[in-house]
Amino acid sequence: MTVKNFLMAILVLGAMSAPCARAADLRAGAAKAVITPDVKASKVYMAGFGNNRVATGVHDDLYVRCLALAAGNDNLVMCASDLIGLFYDDVLKVREKVKSAAPGVTAVIVASTHDHEGPDTMGLWGPMPLESGMDENYMNGLDGRIAETAVKAVRAEQPAVLTLGRDDHPLLALLQDDSRPPYVKDPYLFVMKLDSASTDQPISTLVNWSDHPETPGERNTLITADYPHWLCDSVEKRVGGMAVFFNGSIGGLLSTLGDQVALEDPESGETARNNTWKKAELVGTTVGELAERALKSGERADVDALLIRRAVFFAPLLNDHFRVAGALGVYKGRKPLYTDGQLDSSTSERELAGLGKLKYAAGHDLETEVDYIQLRAHGKPAAEIATVPGEIYPELINGGIARYPGADFPDAPLEPTVRARLKTKYQFIFGLANDELGYIIPKAEWDDQPPWLKNHAERWYGEVNSTGRPFRRRYEPS
Ligand SMILES: [Zn+2]
Repeated sequence: MTVKNFLMAILVLGAMSAPCARAADLRAGAAKAVITPDVKASKVYMAGFGNNRVATGVHDDLYVRCLALAAGNDNLVMCASDLIGLFYDDVLKVREKVKSAAPGVTAVIVASTHDHEGPDTMGLWGPMPLESGMDENYMNGLDGRIAETAVKAVRAEQPAVLTLGRDDHPLLALLQDDSRPPYVKDPYLFVMKLDSASTDQPISTLVNWSDHPETPGERNTLITADYPHWLCDSVEKRVGGMAVFFNGSIGGLLSTLGDQVALEDPESGETARNNTWKKAELVGTTVGELAERALKSGERADVDALLIRRAVFFAPLLNDHFRVAGALGVYKGRKPLYTDGQLDSSTSERELAGLGKLKYAAGHDLETEVDYIQLRAHGKPAAEIATVPGEIYPELINGGIARYPGADFPDAPLEPTVRARLKTKYQFIFGLANDELGYIIPKAEWDDQPPWLKNHAERWYGEVNSTGRPFRRRYEPS
């Protein structure tokens, strides 16, 4: 993913003029459904760490959770699934299904929490490298299940009142281990709560915060939603309504693992260890408590209109490994490539360093999307949502891009900061939304060639899971 394309799209969308507010009530509905794969019926390869991690059981169910919001002429559904990631073409399939069942829906967002303890929905974690771990039956059923849940949320819409909350508690940053310089985090927590206008009963509480769900670690073989399971559970108990969690800017790499995240286990009086259920529980419940705290100082917003802007664009695929994976069927026909705007499934054979002669997907671009949404009250934006099609480095969101010796593009211009361009206090950033392109890295920090950033002894993690290095002109495979 090219940072420049992404940021330009966000900024252009943000600069568009807003429509006149329409006098109409806000309506909200929520629905959730279990999407846990059947680990007994077939082999389930678990996503997120190494190859060949086969699930042996289920610790807690995976869910898709959808919140629908309608105001004026717009009807928006936002769904988050406990999955590692979904490609854009799966999201388009979900949208088609939603559209045929509920033609009044004007926008559908499908995001993943980036769960590292669920099924492989991207094909990358099969029995061995370049052998898919994706179960097509599960994937086909999944698209339908997400769409059904979105439609259920829309059908449940009722007049609603919205409360917006935000929390900047220092503990939020202490729950994020950052392992790559610059040590910029994205600790901000944003919450929206919808209550029934007629009964005052909570409908849904949406939480947005940033951290890799990988707490049980690479040796765990039980399916779990990880800390979002406890986060949602705690929010549902403390605040009420159906909880839905959207992950944020988690590149760089913000993680619950690592010694920087030190939470005391009240039972033992010791710091909860990595790769334990206790640590996942403590992270989730702590964020849940802070979401409740955020709402205590929350503000009512009389939302009467939505502004929804979408930019669909092509981003060159510059990662050779992803091209080989595509040609070898790792994505099972998903993640198609385009050349000059037309689908291009052609392949060729190439000699790739370290891999030998391999089939190689020859198309030029991936299609992807960013959205910018305003929840508007009395003609003004009250809250904003920016969707990001991957794992963006927090310095692109909050500022703080650094120049270090060893960078491949030491003189690259610094990209604009997203939050600085947003207009409201409530700045929801939905990461892995509508696509999962991998890491989105500032050009000045791009480091695919030695010497490594800050003269580090080995390469930093990140580029290997990115759609590609930043580019200036049309990419020619080398
Ligand atoms: Zn990740």
